[in-house]
Amino acid sequence: MCSTCDYKRFESKDGKLQQGLGMGSLVIRCDENGKNYRLAVNGEPKSEYVLYWCPTCGSKLF
Ligand SMILES: [Zn+2]
Repeated sequence: MCSTCDYKRFESKDGKLQQGLGMGSLVIRCDENGKNYRLAVNGEPKSEYVLYWCPTCGSKLF
């Protein structure tokens, strides 16, 4: 795991864990047990996109 996909570094928000990506409005989020990773635009729940691999380090995320 890297700083993008290590959910122990994510912030808790609305029962999920999430972290901003880069300088834009993209976030990576997952359940509190480190399952169900999603990529999303912050504040737009319908933008969620399932991630099976970390976009940075390539680790499997399921
Ligand atoms: Zn990673």
